[in-house]
Parts: sequence; structure tokens; C-alpha cells
Amino acid sequence: MLPDDVLDWWEYHEGRRCVLAAWKHHRQRAEGSRTSFDGHDQRERVRGLAHLRWPGGHDTWQEGPLDSTLEQRTQQLIAQGVPAIFRAVFTAGGSSVSVDVLERGRDGAWTAVLLATRLQLDEFLIEQAALTLHVLRAANVALAGIHLLHVDVKYARVPGPIDPQVFFGRRSLTIRAARALPRVVTRLEHLKDMVALPRMPEVAKGTHCGCCAFTAQCVDPLPADWTGHFPHEPGPSVDEWIARGFERMGDVPESEPIGPKRARARLAARQGHLAVDPALPEALKAFGPPAFYLDFECLVSLIPVFEGARPAQHIPFQWSLHHVDGEGRLTHIDEIVPPGEDPRRRFAESLIEAVGSYWEPIVVYSDYESWRLQQLSDVFPDLAPALQRIRGRLVDLLELVRDHVYDLNFLGNYSLKAIGPVLAPGLTYKGLSIKDGLTATRAYASLIDAQVSEDDVASALHDLRRYSERNTLALVDVHRTLMNLANGVTTTPEGEVAWPTVQG
Ligand code: SF4
Repeated sequence: MLPDDVLDWWEYHEGRRCVLAAWKHHRQRAEGSRTSFDGHDQRERVRGLAHLRWPGGHDTWQEGPLDSTLEQRTQQLIAQGVPAIFRAVFTAGGSSVSVDVLERGRDGAWTAVLLATRLQLDEFLIEQAALTLHVLRAANVALAGIHLLHVDVKYARVPGPIDPQVFFGRRSLTIRAARALPRVVTRLEHLKDMVALPRMPEVAKGTHCGCCAFTAQCVDPLPADWTGHFPHEPGPSVDEWIARGFERMGDVPESEPIGPKRARARLAARQGHLAVDPALPEALKAFGPPAFYLDFECLVSLIPVFEGARPAQHIPFQWSLHHVDGEGRLTHIDEIVPPGEDPRRRFAESLIEAVGSYWEPIVVYSDYESWRLQQLSDVFPDLAPALQRIRGRLVDLLELVRDHVYDLNFLGNYSLKAIGPVLAPGLTYKGLSIKDGLTATRAYASLIDAQVSEDDVASALHDLRRYSERNTLALVDVHRTLMNLANGVTTTPEGEVAWPTVQG
């Protein structure tokens, strides 16, 4: 059964990319199984701060009879004459929207204020504003305009509570929303027809599937050499290739212009599963061993926690370091700054002490650590020479893999979480409480914000250390496999990529 004959904002937004995604989200809403993004901890904290700009405002989530809908509560608050309504909900014109703040003007007309947690104005926000405009007009709300309340990226934390008047910027989206309105209404009508279909609409799979909630159903069953799994690279559109009938990577003819990464992927498809660039042995020379393997974990908070920090700035609080010596012996050390103080100074000093007086290359995955070291140099000029020397020793394994190796099981993705299980299948994150960077940053943030017992802090720090240690161990293993590949060891009898055992 369909929830109603209207689309909410999320269904509309997903439908911009794929009508099938809108169709599925619409049904999930009917079943009550759709994941809600409201209540997300970071967004809720920003929302709480934003609400302070409207003293006397009322929140539909917190006020009104329990058996009333958010829409009914909105109407009751309008009738009561309150100056501002938080999360005001309207359904009209074939859609429903939740307005973050509905602000009453002196003349009685309302301004709809959308709260943005993304740092840049983009089509997502403009179309959200246009859909809001459409619904509020259809609901006969006397509307003065549509505004955007956004985090001011130039804000730097000062001592004391954050002033919401300074932390947020506000701008009008009224004209942009009005300009986008005709195309938004046209798309809304089309999507309403599509989600009303009793059967799933047929859609071509392609690059638009990359960030969809339904890839497990639509894309995972496709073969590893499906053309949509080509790595990202400037050049011809992968979707165009699929539309022309080149369903598998090996189908793309030599006459097609193709970049080096995709050419390597096509070669891997034609050879079986793996393609290794002949220049790999030469490129590996810069990576040791002996070598260090380094990984940082950072706190990323829209509301900056420490003095001088900016919104969404990455604040490093933990490093993990493996070392392989000339005989292949492996050792590990790490540092995690307990929550409470600004971790950056201690982080930087301990890293310099651990690694600063050696000369070996430091293997990282991506330029993430390099950027963090640059930021630390900017904050602590007295440490900058030592930090820059460390930075100069970084060698990027991601670049090496991207430019020299492709296995079909990468599925077009070169992240460590994607290539690790392929190149180092013996090393997994199973059994760890923390398995990814986002969970790590949330775990650390939760220790700062809340009253947490000493035991819980110790347990969380232990989990964080184990996670980061596993990341650097993965670097060691991937590096060793690459050395094997450079020596021509490509497969075991079972057809798996050979993986040497790490000596602990
Ligand atoms: S995975 Fe692709 S085809 Fe499937 S719903 Fe998502 S975008 Fe549409």
C-alpha cells in the first residue's frame, strides 16, 4: 500500500537521480522501514544551536497532543500566533516538506528558513527551496521569502559558548527558488506518476548508482567486470558505453578513447581478474622496506570543539605507526590523546618524537595525512620544520595502486576498505567494535560531549587504538602483496592473490 499520493522531499531528491530509487523510498515510507536522517546527532546539535536565534520559538517535535500529526501541530502553532515554528510540516501540491524554521514577520507574513549542514550552496539546496516554495504556496501560506541558514565556514571558535548570531550566516534563496520552481514542479509531476506504478520502473544501471541506498539489490548482483565498475577517470561517459551495448569492460573496443586506469581495468577483465603495470617494481623502490606505515584518526565536528578550530575542520587526535625493518621485522607504536584537551599539540609532538629523527619513507594511503601535517604546521609554527620533514618523507600507496594495479574485485574503488580485502584478504576488521573512520570520529566525539565514566573512556580508547592499528597493518600487508606482484607472484593455485604472512 502506498503511504499517500504525495512525495516527500527525500523521495523527490532521490528521484532526481533515479526514478527507481524514488519508487523504492516511497514504499519504504509506507512500510515504516525507511532510514530517517532527522535526529542525526551532528545535525541535531546544529539545529539546537540554530534554535537559539529564535527565542520564543516552538518545536512541533516537542509540543502538541501526542495523537496529533506534525502537520496538525504546525497549524495549531500558527493559530496560537507564536513568533517561530521549528520543523513546521505542510502537505500540499503533491508533496510534503518539513520547514526547519517558519519565522513570522511583523506584517504576519512568514519566512521559511532552511537549515543547511553542508558548507556550500548547491543544486540540492536550491531545489529543496523551490519545492518548499511550491508546497507553501499550494498550502496558502502568506510567504515573504525563503532563506538559508548556513554554518559560516570562516567562523573560528572563541572561548565560551558559541554565539549563534555569529556562527551562522543567513542568505535569501527566494529568487533562486522561484527560478527553479517550473522545472521542480515538472519533475515532481513526473515522479508522482512513476512512484504510482504498481511495478518497479525499469531503469538502466550506471554511474548514478554509486551513492544509492539500493546498490545491494541493483548493482551487487552484476559481474565485477560490468562497465559501470570502471574507475572514475576523465574521458567518455561510462553510461554512454553501456547505452551503446558495451556491458562488460572487455567489450569496449580499442578504438574508443580510454584513460590509463580504465585501460588497465579492461586489461584485467581480458586477462582474468588482474592487471599489473610493468613499471610497478621501479615505482615500489621509494617505499622501502625499511619503512614506516602511518594512519591518523581525526575529530570532525561542524560545531568546533576547540579554541581556534573552524567548522568541520579535521582535528587529529590519534596516530598509529607500524615499522618494518630491513629484515622484515614488524613493530607497532601509537598515540591517542585522551579527550578533554585540544589534542593537536600533543599529537604533533608525540609524532615528531616517534618518527622525526629517522630517514625511512613513511607509507600512507592518500594525501590525508599530508594535509593534516600542513594544517598542524600552520597552527604550530615552532613545530613546522619537523612536521614538514615528516611530510616530505610520506609516500602514497593509494597513488601507487591507482597507477599500477587493477583487480576486478576493486569494483572501481581504490579506497583502502575496497582494495584491502582483495590485496590483503587475510586481514579483516571483523571482531572490532570500530570498523571505519566515521565511527571512529563519532566514538571520540561522544567522549568529549558527554559525562562518560573512566571505564567507558578507557574502553573506547582501546577500541580506537585497535581500529587504527588494523589500518596501518593493512598498509603493511598491501605493500607486501604489491612487492609480490612486482616479483611476478600473481596467484595462488586457488586463483587468489598471493598474500604473505605478517610476522608479529
Ligand atoms: S542502485 Fe541504481 S538503479 Fe538501483 S535504485 Fe539506486 S540508482 Fe536506481
